[in-house]
Amino acid sequence: MRIRAAVLYEPGRPVAVEEVELDEPKAGEVLVRVAAAGVCHSDVHLADGVLGDGRWPMVLGHEGAGVVERVGEGVTHVSAGDRVAFCFVPACGACRFCLAGKPNLCGPAGENAVRGTLLDGTSRLRLADGTTLQHGLMTACFAERTVVAGAGAVPLPDGLPLWQAALLGCGVVTGLGAVRNVARLQEGDSVAVFGCGGVGLQVIAGARIAGATTIVAVDRVAEKLELARQQGATHVVDGAAEKPVSVIRKLTDGGVDTAFEVVGSPETIRLAWGAIRPGGTVVVVGLAPKGVDAAVPAIEFLADKSLKGTYYGSGNPAAELPGYARLALAGDLDLSTVVTHTTSLDGVEEALHRLRKGEGARTVLLIDPDLADWPSDRPIR
Ligand SMILES: [Zn+2]
Ligand SMILES: [Zn+2]
Repeated sequence: MRIRAAVLYEPGRPVAVEEVELDEPKAGEVLVRVAAAGVCHSDVHLADGVLGDGRWPMVLGHEGAGVVERVGEGVTHVSAGDRVAFCFVPACGACRFCLAGKPNLCGPAGENAVRGTLLDGTSRLRLADGTTLQHGLMTACFAERTVVAGAGAVPLPDGLPLWQAALLGCGVVTGLGAVRNVARLQEGDSVAVFGCGGVGLQVIAGARIAGATTIVAVDRVAEKLELARQQGATHVVDGAAEKPVSVIRKLTDGGVDTAFEVVGSPETIRLAWGAIRPGGTVVVVGLAPKGVDAAVPAIEFLADKSLKGTYYGSGNPAAELPGYARLALAGDLDLSTVVTHTTSLDGVEEALHRLRKGEGARTVLLIDPDLADWPSDRPIR
């Protein structure tokens, strides 16, 4: 079938929104009509070519929600008409990581994500001239329709607008998962969050829900610090004007229990390290470009400090996602104010550029505003 999609031809060239060919779902796969998709910093990294060579041409987009149109043979967990959010690690259930209870690290899902294919190692996407297109992180949801592995389509509870549900599959799973599954925050903990973009704001929300009583948000953009306050930050530090480490250490009697780095740069990893108390932990959530090293003063490992990584929430993303949707439905998680911009599919390049400049938190592409439950009287801005 012919669909419109956002195609990355090569880094350095604007993403082109044009008609491409999408094949029918094969066994175990699901065809989804995309309602809305979030534009994430990882899309910028892919578009800028910093995650490695050979990852183009590609249909971008790994965070979104839509409605199932057709299912391939053997798919039973969803059927036509079901509202779903995308999970970009459709775990195979059989590899060593899946068997060890770490489906976020699923081997086949990871390999095919890098290859730009679905779980059988092939693509369902082609340019009009027949050139094979890669599926962005097995999701490729900057498009009117997409075919994903069955486990990549997670059914949603009723009632959550799809333009909000669109954020669940990357920002929320990653941010709240880092709090719950990696940091395992306790009530009364103190935390610092470096970087208040789409994911950082979810880390802040997760810390608030977990009962952290001191939540220090650090960013260089005043608008994002304001959003951080709305998500539950108790203190904000303008990294462009103040020295975050000394402010945080003063505020917290020598350092926070846990610092989350949600930027993906050696400088902020170093700052986060300086902001934790002896025995504290830095959780690096940010995605750094390939080839970047990070350094910390190694003698401080003797102070019982830890530096931890995380990928996609470090839990079971598909199993946890509906619970996050219910948190949003209950009003405990606000998925609307973090959406600072909305646009059509054609606005994707502009949205990527906003992220490059550090402007705003999330842009949501309203690919089908009605399907996305976007209020008809509300402008798309
Ligand atoms: Zn993402
Ligand atoms: Zn697996």
